Amino acid sequence: MHHIDIDLIEMTLDVMKYVIGRVSATEHQIGKPRKSEDLKALVGDTVTPKGVGGEYAFNLWKEHLAKTNVPVDHPRNLAFVPASPTKAAIMFDLITSASSIHGAYWMEGAGGIFCENEAMSWIVSLTGMPEGAFGVFTSGGTAANLSAIVTAREHWRENAEFKGEKGLIITSIGAHSSIKAMAKVADVDIILVDSEEHLTGAMLEETIATLTEHQRKCLFAVVATGGTTNAGIIDDLSSIAEVCEAQNLWFHIDAAYGGGALVADSVRHLFKGIERADSITIDPHKWMFSPYDCGAVLYRDMELAKNAHSQQGSYLEIFKDEGAHGFNPTDYQIQLTRRVRGLPLWFSLATHGTDRYKEAVERGLELAQIAGRLIEAHPKLELVREPSLSCVLYRRIGWEPEDYTHWTYENHKKGFALVTPTKWKNGDTFETCSRFCFINPDTTERDIEMILETME
Ligand SMILES: *Cc1c(COP(=O)(O)O)cnc(C)c1O
Repeated sequence: MHHIDIDLIEMTLDVMKYVIGRVSATEHQIGKPRKSEDLKALVGDTVTPKGVGGEYAFNLWKEHLAKTNVPVDHPRNLAFVPASPTKAAIMFDLITSASSIHGAYWMEGAGGIFCENEAMSWIVSLTGMPEGAFGVFTSGGTAANLSAIVTAREHWRENAEFKGEKGLIITSIGAHSSIKAMAKVADVDIILVDSEEHLTGAMLEETIATLTEHQRKCLFAVVATGGTTNAGIIDDLSSIAEVCEAQNLWFHIDAAYGGGALVADSVRHLFKGIERADSITIDPHKWMFSPYDCGAVLYRDMELAKNAHSQQGSYLEIFKDEGAHGFNPTDYQIQLTRRVRGLPLWFSLATHGTDRYKEAVERGLELAQIAGRLIEAHPKLELVREPSLSCVLYRRIGWEPEDYTHWTYENHKKGFALVTPTKWKNGDTFETCSRFCFINPDTTERDIEMILETME
């Protein structure tokens, strides 16, 4: 006889009730930020020798803690890069947890990894990379960028001439902060081309021409951006590919945010040249409607990634055995134990079909165009530059930087919207302006109008 644990059933039902409420609600609250001391005063000690009990802890979560978060899928959360996981993906995220799958090796996680790979095949097909190219899911764009940089560096240093040398990469100031941060982790030098507008092969050649002989020797990779996080700008990937091929440099494209737009016919041509990359970063948790966290790194030649990342250890040898044949995700990125975090994406793709993804991304692009028109029609507002992908930079005529900050906090405190300011490099000066980034297809034109009305 199985022992039926009533408490467990009740807790499961409570959790499912909460989840159903969360995913079926049409309007969520934008939580107010609170100080840690204030939260502590509200909830008291929760981690104690005997525990406070699940029901009590869950109530604390619902009453106090959940209310201080800003949901990334709120239709008026247009800050940073928001997100909008599908309900199908959220449901399968629960299944991913409940299934306790170790996603490092095929031997233990065959079914889960198979599903991840089905989703990955679709992502690879969007890029047009050649036969043999593939990828793995990572914790995010940062881990994907690091995995790619390390692969490139290890491949470069296989050449005896470069053994022991510190490598150098070139990117632009439009590149994401994680490129600089991960260059530090990998201990490689970095040169930034001083332009936030799109990087071209000619600009890259000019920069290479300024290098010392030793710097040129140590230059092993170029990182272009497929949709800058700040402004949605796609570098001129074809001409950069040209230079990289001619000069034998690894070509990495960081499309963590913009990669989702590969599915959209209206902008696909802007990514021409992406198929020539050696590696690409794409974050399904940004514009492919996956829950956090889910990034991806793709490689033209998987063997090179394996050479760089495959871990050795006596207790791991069984996984390399013939009996365990199959795809081992751990071999291609920095992590050993991993969640099968591509599984929710697979279920969502299988549920909805890829056409729905196309429509949802096109809607984000359309919202940026709509916002652009509303801004141009507004007497006190101006576009800083034309909307690019789903990013819109605009100014409120006459506002100082502190006006933008004040406005952001007012809207946040009211629980109305989260829209944050940014800076745009204009010649030699940085201008503070306001920024929208659209991901959620449920954001409406009215939402945008209401936000703009608060800038009167
Ligand atoms: C968001 C972003 C990253 C970092 O990705 P995480 O998933 O936050 O680690 C890297 N590059 C670009 C272009 C991004 O937009």
